[in-house]
Amino acid sequence: MFVGHYGPSFAIKSFQRSISLWTLFLAVQLLDVGWSVLVFCGLEKVRIVPGITASNPFDLYYMPFTHSLVAALAWGIGGIILCRLLLGIRDWLACIWMGTAVFSHWIFDFLVHRPDLPLYDNTAKIGLGLWNYPLIALAIEALLLFGGLIMYLRRTRPLNAVGRLGPPIFGVLMLAIQCLIFFGPPPISPVAAAVTALVSYLAFAAVAAWLEHNRESAAA
Ligand SMILES: [Zn+2]
Repeated sequence: MFVGHYGPSFAIKSFQRSISLWTLFLAVQLLDVGWSVLVFCGLEKVRIVPGITASNPFDLYYMPFTHSLVAALAWGIGGIILCRLLLGIRDWLACIWMGTAVFSHWIFDFLVHRPDLPLYDNTAKIGLGLWNYPLIALAIEALLLFGGLIMYLRRTRPLNAVGRLGPPIFGVLMLAIQCLIFFGPPPISPVAAAVTALVSYLAFAAVAAWLEHNRESAAA
């Protein structure tokens, strides 16, 4: 899953005002940020196997440190601690929501991945495999993304034209990128895929920071 992960970011931001949207954007993709770095370093493994699923060619055969259930829970707890120590957010409930955002990545990956998500280490792999049904997978990505986005838009209000037009345009752009990933050409190499993913996550978080700067809480 890619853009659907951002649905929980928008949704959580709609009721947790003390957390910034851009940090939630990084939180929901933290497992994949770690995956990108570890694939780049050769510590987690992926190979390109055209046709392995109907919508992407990734054989994610070794990713115990970022995408096992046990690891995802640990990353979620790490998200709570980072929220408290690094972001200085004193509200434990907000930090727990941040950790939930981090862990939500694994739940939504479980829907679309083929059985390549280990429960622990590199064994007992599961995944519902909706990537083999591209239109259903795309519909779920869109529902999650726009469901969260609508919650966010209802609980905040624009300060200017950027704040009014930016989020819907950004949502449509993200969905277009998702379509390109599903139906466009495959990446040229695993490292290219990892670098592209990492750049996308950072760029999306930067756009989120810019957009939230142009909106305010509806109750303010
Ligand atoms: Zn993932």
